[in-house]
Amino acid sequence: MASGATSIGTNQERNESHGNARAIEGVYAPPGFHWVGDGFRVAGYFSAIPNAAKKLSPFLMMDYHPSYSYAPTETERRGVGPHPHRGFETVTLAFQGSVAHHDSMGNGGVIGPGDVQWMTAASGILHQEYHGEDYARVGGPFQMIQLWVNLPKAHKMSAPRYQALLSKQMGQATLANNAGLVRVIAGEYLGTKGLANTFTKVNLLDVMLNAGGMADFSFPARDNAALLVMAGDVRIGDRMASANDFVLFANVGERFAIEATSEAHIVVLSGEPIDEAIVQHGPFVMTTEREIHEAIDDFRQGKFGTMSR
Ligand code: MN
Repeated sequence: MASGATSIGTNQERNESHGNARAIEGVYAPPGFHWVGDGFRVAGYFSAIPNAAKKLSPFLMMDYHPSYSYAPTETERRGVGPHPHRGFETVTLAFQGSVAHHDSMGNGGVIGPGDVQWMTAASGILHQEYHGEDYARVGGPFQMIQLWVNLPKAHKMSAPRYQALLSKQMGQATLANNAGLVRVIAGEYLGTKGLANTFTKVNLLDVMLNAGGMADFSFPARDNAALLVMAGDVRIGDRMASANDFVLFANVGERFAIEATSEAHIVVLSGEPIDEAIVQHGPFVMTTEREIHEAIDDFRQGKFGTMSR
């Protein structure tokens, strides 16, 4: 190689190889923590992002609970009691500890590290979310994510549905060069498909990289894309991100690589935006004020069912 032509190549080569690079909209630190009930200490990233509803559609919310240690308890039931949802899906990813869920459809269960519960509230459910009993008795580190995924208007009043996506059944792609692995929760990565049935196109990927490992991603520019760094330090293009940083991509370009400068754990999400109005009132997400009033009336009249336990 001639002197001057170093491994970074000429400007022209760089432009060609980066010509389809996905641009980064911003890197966001957690906006502070709040409690959901008495069991979930979370950061709600979207509240800090301008125009999040458009830039992150179909995702409505992401509450991240970084690792936090709870004291053991035999008597306390930490979490959040019966509450309604209508018009979207709640997706809970457990990483440390366990989450117990029961709903008015009679569905429920406990998910542990690596498991995901994909609950479609659609026309409406009541549910409660607690620390799993076995975990609560022992206590210790607890880490989870809850995403809210919007439904298109045509499916907001569909029947509720519950999918338990267990870690042991989940497809995973092993990356070349001992870079790490990608667990596919929803969508597809390197030909490995996720177990989740979704109403719109969504990719939800749990990425574990070894120090020095790299993973490539490509999503159509019109699809929204973001990632959360849960542990480690990574480089994406010319930006660095560390544990608890949320990276939002712009709708420019398609491809990006995550390079881990230390062992890293990242969740990558992308989805086709739902180009419809969003009218939210707490746990109800619809497209008109009228539908919100109907949801409130239906809830007051007990149409969301009852909890059996
Ligand atoms: Mn809930």
